[in-house]
Amino acid sequence: MVAMNIVITGGSGFVGSYLCEKLINNGHKIIVIDNLLTGSTENINDLMSNENFSFIEHDVQDHIEIENKVDYVLHFASAASPKAYTEHPVNTLKAGSVGTINTLGLAKKHQAEYLLASTSEVYGDPLVSPQTEEYWGNVNPNGERSMYDEAKRFAEAAVATYSRSYDLKTKIVRIFNTYGPRMQLNDGRVVTNFIVQALRNENITIYGDGSQTRSFSYVEDTVAGIISLMNSSEYDVFNIGNPNEMTVGQLAETIIELTDSTSEIKYLELPNDDPKQRKPDITKAKTKLNWEPKVNLEDGLTKTIKWVESQLSK
Ligand code: UDP
Repeated sequence: MVAMNIVITGGSGFVGSYLCEKLINNGHKIIVIDNLLTGSTENINDLMSNENFSFIEHDVQDHIEIENKVDYVLHFASAASPKAYTEHPVNTLKAGSVGTINTLGLAKKHQAEYLLASTSEVYGDPLVSPQTEEYWGNVNPNGERSMYDEAKRFAEAAVATYSRSYDLKTKIVRIFNTYGPRMQLNDGRVVTNFIVQALRNENITIYGDGSQTRSFSYVEDTVAGIISLMNSSEYDVFNIGNPNEMTVGQLAETIIELTDSTSEIKYLELPNDDPKQRKPDITKAKTKLNWEPKVNLEDGLTKTIKWVESQLSK
């Protein structure tokens, strides 16, 4: 592929930082725009001294100006865990709405290609399973997750509208639950919560009765899927995730086993609007992008547990 100048908003975040590494290794120049609200420069430390890498501390809700030519814009900036977006509701709303408009404006000015990081949350509490890209979702427009899921739905509408109105080349990736090293340990996500609790032999906190399902993708697989979409000639919407669905209760059991923990399960109240099921249909990505996840849950969790252990012993 020809070397490109790529802007990645949210490039110091969990998924964004892996994308930066891959794209730099593929010979591209990267400009990260990040307000460091939930991301961390620690994630991109190794890249900071690379001459093909630059970092701008900036919030995407404010106008973005880049003088050099931009070939590609990836909009990944947003709080993304329920705890983080609940703590930063207005910033989350603006990152998905105003931030998407600003990054689309940047792409329009430079006639750059554009890729939006959307989410399985656009399906809300889905009434069909697995979820295909054709499913329109079941979302509470003013519920406790709406600052995130409705902002991302607006973001998709904005991408579609700019694409039609200005002939922009755009793509949307709907990312399903992703886990792996570099997740924030305190952002309340289920995989990290359970691993930390299990390693400390503390109670494992299951919200509700643990029968709600999720499908977990190891970060390397998710990032490989996003890169496949970037490199393809598909200007469309794609689910990227691992269809290996399980209940939250099963995840707790697996993590207890893998960590050899003496933790016990503690059942807590289920938050409002917590989706009861989530499983991606990835037929489209398999057939059109020739991508599918490769890392099984045990291997991915084992690597993640090792990393969490190293973080806890710091
Ligand atoms: N969850 C849980 N215990 C925890 C954290 C999360 O039972 O300590 C549940 C949560 O209620 C949800 C699922 O695990 O049903 C996944 O939560 P997460 O915050 O990771 O992300 P979500 O998929 O809901 O966006």
